[in-house]
Amino acid sequence: MAISQKDKKVYQWGHDRRFNAYSNYFRSIYGARVQKVSIDAGFTCPNRDGTKGSGGCTYCNNDAFNPSYCVPEKSVSQQIEEGIIFHKWRYSETVSYLAYFQAYSNTYAPLDTMRKLYEEALNYPGVIGLIIGTRPDCIDEGKLVYLKELSKRCYLAVEYGIESCYNKTLKRINRGHSFEDAVWAIERTSALGINTGAHFIFGLPGETREEMVNQVAVISELPLKTIKFHQLQIIKGTTMEKEFQNNPGDFELFTWEEYLDFFISFLERLNPVFVVERFTGEAPPRFLTGEGWGKKRTDQIVNLIEKRLEELDTCQGRLYEPNPKR
Ligand code: SF4
Repeated sequence: MAISQKDKKVYQWGHDRRFNAYSNYFRSIYGARVQKVSIDAGFTCPNRDGTKGSGGCTYCNNDAFNPSYCVPEKSVSQQIEEGIIFHKWRYSETVSYLAYFQAYSNTYAPLDTMRKLYEEALNYPGVIGLIIGTRPDCIDEGKLVYLKELSKRCYLAVEYGIESCYNKTLKRINRGHSFEDAVWAIERTSALGINTGAHFIFGLPGETREEMVNQVAVISELPLKTIKFHQLQIIKGTTMEKEFQNNPGDFELFTWEEYLDFFISFLERLNPVFVVERFTGEAPPRFLTGEGWGKKRTDQIVNLIEKRLEELDTCQGRLYEPNPKR
């Protein structure tokens, strides 16, 4: 997999990091760091408003992941302005931004509403593209055709929350869609040439660790560009918190050490063409039930995973086996 280049190993993704890293992917396209700026544009969710379901996914509390500057009472432009200031103190070199429509389901609205909000973001100076987070059942041909047109003039990615490949799990967490719905949305989006991303959660109730790792073969055959993973965190005020309190034995939450071993094993089997954006999620401690993993920051977690990959002399995709039928 790796080739030597003046004493440095360069992997098939074009650099010497042991996984196909999101930050390097953008550097390779734009030659500089690109920063995502989150937006809550006031979209809602069909799994909350009664269209698909009510109460939402059992683990859902959008506030736990929304940065403080993200509130729908502020315009898209104002949120971008405040987001840029928020990130500037850490990353002074950043010159370009991606508007990340993050909260709820950001294609769950009439096309005209979507267009107006996306255009406002794209008109903000320094914004070079959009990342649109949504559900697989909130997209249709008309929206995809519009997004395809939009993708010709800016960077554009549609990121689907999939969470699990198992319908028994999707039912249990009240997702309100099936894995087949997710496959349809991913394949249709990708077929139109739109960058397609997916998000998965490890540790959902009812799944064994073996089932979790076995998903890698299915996921690796999806036509994805980017991928994100989170460990399950039980967020206060959610339906899942009540389930956890009533039946803690139903949950097998990862300790950090367990997750590190599990994730390395998963990553080794993951399709190396996928650009990996996240390994873990970190809700602020005030939202968490239980201990969490202490005060590890995202960059520390990335460093620890890269250190372990180095120690084991392994990398993303080392054990990946392409499906011969595809
Ligand atoms: S689809 Fe997203 S916003 Fe809607 S309930 Fe589930 S996690 Fe929450």
